[in-house]
This record gives sequence, structure tokens and C-alpha cells, in this order.
Amino acid sequence: MPLPRHDADASLDPQDWDAFRALAHRMVDDSLAFIRDLPDTRPWQPIPGEVRASLTGEPLPMAAQSPEVAYEQFVREILPFTNGNRHPRFWGWIQGNGTPLGMMADMLAAGMNAHLAGLDQSPKLVELQVITWLAELMGMPTTSSGLLVSGGSMANILSLAVARHAKAGFDVRTEGLHAQPRLTVYASVEVHSWAQKGVELFGMGSASLRKIPVGADMRMDLSALRATIAADRAAGMRPICVIGTAGTVNSGATDDLNALADLCAAESLWFHVDGAFGALARLSPELAPMVHGMERADSLAFDLHKWMYLPYEIACFLVRDPEVHRATFALTPSYLRDEGRGVIAGGIPFADRGPELTRGFKALKVWMSLKAHGVDAFTQLIEQNVAQARELERRLRLMPEVEVVTPVTLNIVCFRLVRPGLTGEQEDALTKELLLRIQEEGTAVPSGSQFDGRYIIRVACSNHRAKWEDFELFLRAVSRISGSLVPH
Ligand SMILES: *Cc1c(COP(=O)(O)O)cnc(C)c1O
Repeated sequence: MPLPRHDADASLDPQDWDAFRALAHRMVDDSLAFIRDLPDTRPWQPIPGEVRASLTGEPLPMAAQSPEVAYEQFVREILPFTNGNRHPRFWGWIQGNGTPLGMMADMLAAGMNAHLAGLDQSPKLVELQVITWLAELMGMPTTSSGLLVSGGSMANILSLAVARHAKAGFDVRTEGLHAQPRLTVYASVEVHSWAQKGVELFGMGSASLRKIPVGADMRMDLSALRATIAADRAAGMRPICVIGTAGTVNSGATDDLNALADLCAAESLWFHVDGAFGALARLSPELAPMVHGMERADSLAFDLHKWMYLPYEIACFLVRDPEVHRATFALTPSYLRDEGRGVIAGGIPFADRGPELTRGFKALKVWMSLKAHGVDAFTQLIEQNVAQARELERRLRLMPEVEVVTPVTLNIVCFRLVRPGLTGEQEDALTKELLLRIQEEGTAVPSGSQFDGRYIIRVACSNHRAKWEDFELFLRAVSRISGSLVPH
């Protein structure tokens, strides 16, 4: 086929703006109605076979079908069949719910399609403002450098890149790890899986991640940490970083961050804190003491799409020393040089703080949400979630067949079924059956995990839509279903 004529004037904008506007308004109205009516729906339902087939077996659409047709299929086949994390009774893993305002802010950001490498534009100023606000919220110096990224894993991994650059003792950007001593990183056995992905991705190897045991309180054993660092140094390795966790994914425990900060200062190690959700506890005067010491971190990573409830994807990492942050990633090709004037004035500060060049306007939903709701609203919701977790623990402890397996320190409740005369394996099977029935009958979505080799049900309260009556419903289901379960 020959190319079209140069004056063909094709574009992806609507040909009929009025029709498109009507569809767009319907999209907004339907989305808001769906969120409003969530309490009347089941958190999760299986995908019907015909929907599964329709969504996976369709030929590549070469010809236009109209946006209305695509949208109607979305409403029928996609919208109702999610994993359910928007629902008030979703308490699985640690997921956020999103907010109507966050949804609209993301729509506005997508409409602006701003390019957030930097450049001289208001969206850049908004991201800088948001980073300063977040540093203030977290107790880090407001002169800290930071970047908004897709999630906690990315925020932590990029922080680790800064740590390595700062503490390797040689020019890791130029030399790589060629013929250098092994660089080692320390975290508790409860550290999230990003840490292993990170050291593997950086070519350090998973053997560079030294996992330190925890005590009964699920916090890193400090004498084991000291001993491992000393032994590694003696063996010719080069320790570079200790990762403390504020709110572990399994139990919500927080390492002794002040002790880790002291140790890092004494040992000249980088102190990184993974505060994916736990860092947000700092908003509450009552809960803040649990994460004390976090503000002494060299770098701190936290999600805004978990315990700040914003729509995916949004997380942040902060680096105390802006120069070290820049030095880890900055690389300015001639076509991106700051001319001090014009569109490129001010350069590309965000591209210099991470590996991505083209980035979207993630900051808008943070900026708008903080302004519209105010910090106090988030503080209140975080406290509400912790109060829910505490009351749920208390109620579960009253149930004869239930054992609460880890202390509830923050917002995560872990329990299993126990029954006299049954083996641990039989109790595991009952516990798993209880979890899956609660999910499948559409009551609620907690998740499963392992603790001390035993199967557990894990209820994570990071849901701004959950009301106490939702937990009452769940408690009734636990006692009804567990009473009917017969061991094999
Ligand atoms: C969820 C979580 C992460 C990973 O964050 P994502 O946003 O899922 O990438 C890291 N650490 C902890 C403690 C977490 O709970």
C-alpha cells in the first residue's frame, strides 16, 4: 500500500466530539456508581468461562469497532472481575483501595500527558512540592531528594542502588563489580522479596543479601546482625547497607530502627528503611513511636498506594543527601542539556534521580488528595485501621478454635484454626479450607501465609472503606464455617 497523501490529516482525536463527550461522561458516571455501590457486591467472584474465552481468544482488531463497543465489553467482562481490592471487605496481602478523587486526578494527569523527566512546567513544580511535603510527613529533612515511582519494590530497589553507589568504596558505575570484594547487605528474614530481587538485579547475587534471624517479637536480632557483619568483614567481604523494615509484610513488626541507625553510624553503613506501609504510622501521634528512628535513615521507601489508599501506581523514596542521589543516576546526553532558558530550563531533575526518562504525572493525585482531604483525614483512617485490627484480634482470641499467632503490633492480624486431637497438618488443611471458603462464598478476602511452618490466615487492615460491621460479618463467617469443617 502506498503511504497516504501528505494532506490526509488523520488523527486519533474523536471525529464526533459530542458523541465522545457523551461516552466520556458515561465512563465517569459508571465508574463512580460502581465505587459507590461496592458494599452491595461481593469482593471477588470467579470469572465465567465465556468471559475468560472472550478476553483471551479475540483476534487482533485491525478494523475500528468504535469506542462504545469497546467500552460496553469493558463494563460486561472486565469491570466486575477484579481481585476485589476496592471492596470494603478486602484485607488480603497489603493492597490499597484507591479513591474516587485519585481516580479523577489520574484521569486529569493522563489528559495532560505531561512528560515528567523535568522541563520547565508546573507539573515539575508539583512533584517537587509533593516530595517536600512527604519528606516533612516522614520526618526527613525537607532538603531531601526524592522520586515518585511505581511501587514499593521499585522505591526500595532504587534506594539500594543509591546505597551501593555511596558505600561500595569504588566507582561502581564505571567499574561494575569486576574483581571487587563481595558487597553485602543486611536485613531480617522477614524482609520483603524486593531485597533479593534487588541484589540479583544489580549483579551482586542473592548470596550478598544476609538474612538475619528475628526474635519472638519478629524484629531483627541485633546481636546476630553485629556478629554477621563482623564475620563477613573478617572473611574479606564489604558490608554496605542495613535494611530496616517499618511494618513487615507478614506481621507488621518494625525493627528497632534507632538501634539500626546507631549501628550503621558506628559501622559506616548505609541505613535504608523499607516503610512500604508501616512508614505511614508516623502520621499518628499514638503510633509514631513504633517507627521512631525511621527519620534517621539515609534512604526511606514507602508506598502511597497501600496505606495512603491512593490508586495504583504510586510510591516514593527519599534520600537524605541529594548529591549522592543524583550521582547514582545522573547522565545527561547532549540532547537533554539544560540551556538555562526555554522548555528545558532546569533540566531533567527526575530523570537524574532514577533510571526512567519518560515518566507520567504521578504527583497530581498525591498533591490533589493531600489538599482535598488534608493530612488529618489520612491520620484518622490509619488509626481507624489499627483500632479495627486490635478489636479483631480481641474478638478472635475469644473464639475457642482460633489461635492468634503473632502479636498485633500495627494493622495485621494472623490466626489459624486449632482443634484438640488434630495434627498440625490437619489444622493447616482446616485453616486453608476456611480461608478459601470465605473468599469463594464472597464474604471477604483475607490472604494466606505461613508462620513457623504452619498455615495461617492473614487479615491486613489497610482499607479506608472497611467499617466495623464488615468485620462482624467476617467473624460470623469464621465461626459458622469453622464449625462445619470436618477434618480428613
Ligand atoms: C508491599 C511491600 C513492598 C512492595 O511494594 P509494592 O508497592 O508492592 O511494590 C515492599 N516492602 C513491604 C514491607 C511491603 O509490604
